[in-house]
Amino acid sequence: MRRWDIRNWAAEHALPIGFAVAFVPLAILLALQVGWLKELDKASAVAHRAALRSTVETAGNNVEQFYRGMAERLLNVPVAMLPTRDLDRIGSFWSNKSRDGLRTLFVVDFSDEPTGNYYVFDAERGELVSSPASDESLAIVLATLPWQGWARNAGSDDALGLHTNENDRSNRIVLHPVIGPNDRVVGVVGFLPDPEYLQTELLPRVIEEAAQAFFAPAAMKDLDIVAHDANGVAVYGGDGTSKPAPDVRIRIPFLFRDYTIGIRSEGETREWWLGGRFAFNMTIGFVSAFVLLAGIALALFSARRSMRLSQMKSDFVSNVSHELRTPLASIRLFAELLRSGRVTSADRVVEYGDHIEAETRRLSRLIDNILDFSRIESEQKEYRLEPTYVLDLVRPVLRAFEVRLQQDGFVLKTDLCEAPGPMACVDADAVGQVLHNLLDNAVKYSKAGSTIEVGVVTRGSSVEISVRDEGIGIAAADQSKVFERFHRVGTGLVHDVKGSGLGLAIVDHVVKAHGGHVRLESELGQGSRFTIHLPLWDPSREEA
Ligand code: ADP
Repeated sequence: MRRWDIRNWAAEHALPIGFAVAFVPLAILLALQVGWLKELDKASAVAHRAALRSTVETAGNNVEQFYRGMAERLLNVPVAMLPTRDLDRIGSFWSNKSRDGLRTLFVVDFSDEPTGNYYVFDAERGELVSSPASDESLAIVLATLPWQGWARNAGSDDALGLHTNENDRSNRIVLHPVIGPNDRVVGVVGFLPDPEYLQTELLPRVIEEAAQAFFAPAAMKDLDIVAHDANGVAVYGGDGTSKPAPDVRIRIPFLFRDYTIGIRSEGETREWWLGGRFAFNMTIGFVSAFVLLAGIALALFSARRSMRLSQMKSDFVSNVSHELRTPLASIRLFAELLRSGRVTSADRVVEYGDHIEAETRRLSRLIDNILDFSRIESEQKEYRLEPTYVLDLVRPVLRAFEVRLQQDGFVLKTDLCEAPGPMACVDADAVGQVLHNLLDNAVKYSKAGSTIEVGVVTRGSSVEISVRDEGIGIAAADQSKVFERFHRVGTGLVHDVKGSGLGLAIVDHVVKAHGGHVRLESELGQGSRFTIHLPLWDPSREEA
């Protein structure tokens, strides 16, 4: 293939080529996107579970932190404060420290008494008082028993550090030994947390903070977080309805170890994380790909259209110049012959005169067509509609053509209805030009000697003017296009017969402007029939 051929081929197939060029990368991109989205989906599900777990773990850890912080603050009683003969000292040590969330602070002093002196902190007085006889005191005694032993026998590592005792669930205890010289246990300080505070203040706070840390505010409404106590009673969240088991559940570490915090996500968040967005994302991908392809197709289509139009326009210019030059050349030739005086025979003079007249008519028809077309294009074409006998406008056109048809050896057959015949409200000049164009084409696209048939009949509420020829015919694919401006079957100078490509465009426009339509029946190589359908003139409607 030569370079020019390749270019031509590419120009002709711009639409499928452009489409393929855009489609292939788009298809690859979509395939990749499917893969990515699937991966993302899997990763999202894992991430979602991790986020749920982190939320409850963080909440649990924060509960632990809270109580460890409290122990750090309150239970590091300096050994110098024991023995507790001076009860005010530890009292004032605790007085100005934050004690939110605890019920009782106590100290057991083994330094004077091997079984220990038991005191609790009286917050109102800001001092230690002897521990009253109560379940709470009993729990404290039981919890501190091991240290009683260690106070007597020094040196056990078990004695050191922070301890919790949750044997009595109503009196949970955090305790810390006070170690004297030689690692001797001289006392134990501790506190009993307030379960009420845990349930109403601490848990709500830590859970909300944790959820905020791992989920966007919009997603939080879909989270269902519930904390249960040892008896399975919901102490946070839970609306009393029995819901499916949580996605993740943990136990609170350190203190309140029999409490659990569970979390599950519902609705959109769950959908989103667990792949509900896959279909959504894919749909968006496909829809945007489709829109993109449609846009490209549209752009290519309109580019091809304008290329075709500009090609047709340049053909038009070359055709019209040719159309103008040919009659002008013969007019000049005959005029020169006549002027030179060499033509003496009167018959010849008449013959040449006829030629000149015919050529000038051809010229003015062409110019009429061009002017008409330009008026139609600029929407300045006006029609003077008048009720007219159709035969009155058909006959003069036929007369004008008769000579040319005879000269070229055509047989003209007419099948006209009886005079005066039907009337139509038309612009006689415009419709005459329509018939002219159709006859002109019938002559141009037929071989000499063939028959051209013109008919006028009334059918229903319309009058039909038809021109039939036995010419080259028009292929089915071209039949709708021949009415487009500049369109010619076969292009440029390849076409044997010259023309402007405007004749049928004008025919179509004029007939439609009269409320009618043109029908074309044609078969390649067999000839064509153009039929103009115009509405009959209805005087009663006119009066109305
Ligand atoms: P043109 O000046 O080229 O004749 P038209 O608009 O009158 O322009 O016609 C458009 C095209 O339709 C022509 O170029 C020709 O290919 C085709 N055509 C029109 N009339 C006939 C016919 N009677 N027989 C065969 N082809 C025709």
